[in-house]
Amino acid sequence: MEADLIPSSGERYRRLSLWWDGLPGDVSVRAGLPGDTEVDVAVVGGGLTGLWTAYYLNQARPDLRIAVLERDVVGFGASGRNGGWCSALFSVSEATLDKASGPGSGRAQRLAMQETVGEVGRVVGTEGIACGFHHGGTVVLARTPAQLERTLAEVTEARERGIGEDDLVLLSPADAADRVGATDVLGGTYTPHCAAVDPARLVRGLAEVVEGRGVDLYEQTEVRSIAPGVVTTARGTVRAGTVVRATEGYTRTLAGHGRDLVPVYSLMIATEPLPDAFWAEAGLAGRETFADHRHLVIYGQRTEDGRMAFGGRGAPYHFGSTIRPEFDRDPGVHEALRHTLVDLFPALADAEVTHAWGGPLGIARDWFSSVGIDRATRMAWAGGYVGDGLSTTNLAGRTLRDLILGASTDLTALPWVNHRSKKWEPEPLRYLGINAGLRLAGTADRAEDRKGRATWHGAALSKLVGG
Ligand SMILES: Cc1cc2nc3c(=O)[nH]c(=O)nc-3n(C[C@H](O)[C@H](O)[C@H](O)COP(=O)(O)OP(=O)(O)OC[C@H]3O[C@@H](n4cnc5c(N)ncnc54)[C@H](O)[C@@H]3O)c2cc1C
Repeated sequence: MEADLIPSSGERYRRLSLWWDGLPGDVSVRAGLPGDTEVDVAVVGGGLTGLWTAYYLNQARPDLRIAVLERDVVGFGASGRNGGWCSALFSVSEATLDKASGPGSGRAQRLAMQETVGEVGRVVGTEGIACGFHHGGTVVLARTPAQLERTLAEVTEARERGIGEDDLVLLSPADAADRVGATDVLGGTYTPHCAAVDPARLVRGLAEVVEGRGVDLYEQTEVRSIAPGVVTTARGTVRAGTVVRATEGYTRTLAGHGRDLVPVYSLMIATEPLPDAFWAEAGLAGRETFADHRHLVIYGQRTEDGRMAFGGRGAPYHFGSTIRPEFDRDPGVHEALRHTLVDLFPALADAEVTHAWGGPLGIARDWFSSVGIDRATRMAWAGGYVGDGLSTTNLAGRTLRDLILGASTDLTALPWVNHRSKKWEPEPLRYLGINAGLRLAGTADRAEDRKGRATWHGAALSKLVGG
């Protein structure tokens, strides 16, 4: 065996995220592809999309030869670095789904997403994947009058769609502040459809389960191109009946796929473990994930070991969809995140930020996540989840199982199946358009913040939400 095929230490990967840093035991690196080979299904990308697909396919057909090809190590991408929201959020609205696939499609996708949160919980339970899965729901706060308006509009629209109190609760200022002891709380919503997880322990644990069942996981194996029946890697050629593309934010690295999905960075910070006195004030007693209604997304979770893990968008899109390790850390954006976190919880002003990291997620031109297969070429794919892929990858894995096996099921009838997004514009249009959008969202939030806090009359607004 060549020296570079011998599993080696992966300790260097610990700096990828808080979650990677906390992985128990040694981080070892699996062997690469030993040379030319032949399988039934070749999965390109060892994140949650690739691993859930391998998991469900193997469960349904243990006789299939399945290989997962990963350029670095499993969980290297967004799957091992994210905010740990295992939510029912989907990248486009129910109205958009209805428009694309007919009335009722949006509802079907919503129910499938809600069910997926429980399915992830079921698998981590039965397979014994210790990833701190806690099904505590999500609170989204309204902290300015404009955010409150958006909250009310969201609840009104939800009710019109038949979404009741079991799925989305409008919180009074008192109830919202009771759940999340943040500043300037004017109200909010609560949904039970989210679990907090440690994503690195989830993806790495799933890899061990899949490998234990006989799926071949090849790490340190860069795929250069994919074509019907053939995957060309730096270490040899894989001939496969079906090829699955599961490369999300990194898809542009595959020849011919440069404009399918753009990589946009989301960045995160985490504090040291915080004392009980802090949590007594900050709440999140059910480990609810939390956000507020600003335009430029923020997201947080109380981790299993009592830290605040907090992230947001705002990092610039890099010209030519470039991905570089140094983009994972942007001191300006990380400092802005710390500032926002302290604005929410002033008691954190002196808390140590122990980790700062980030990574690329994948966005399609119409923001529409999709999963599908071309039956003629047997080329399959899933991705474009924007920032909501943690649970959606599970739905993708089950759907790809059915599509690959040629079964027609409720999953294969969902509106995101075989949706085709247009390609992104060539540069420099792509760069100018995406960064203008990001700047606009940030500017709108700052304007609402200034205006909102200057004109806020708490009593009048409280009346609006009755609390
Ligand atoms: C900071 C951050 C926070 C986020 N927070 C949340 C959240 O809280 N909730 C949520 O739902 N979603 C969140 N997301 C999004 C979510 O993490 C992703 O949608 C999801 O993990 C996508 O999984 P994936 O397997 O499709 O992609 P990835 O996990 O990115 O996996 C793709 C894999 O393909 C490999 N690869 C790429 N190119 C090649 C190649 N040429 N050859 C071989 N292998 C290759 C990569 O190394 C990588 O391991 C977040 C993302 C980020 C970056």
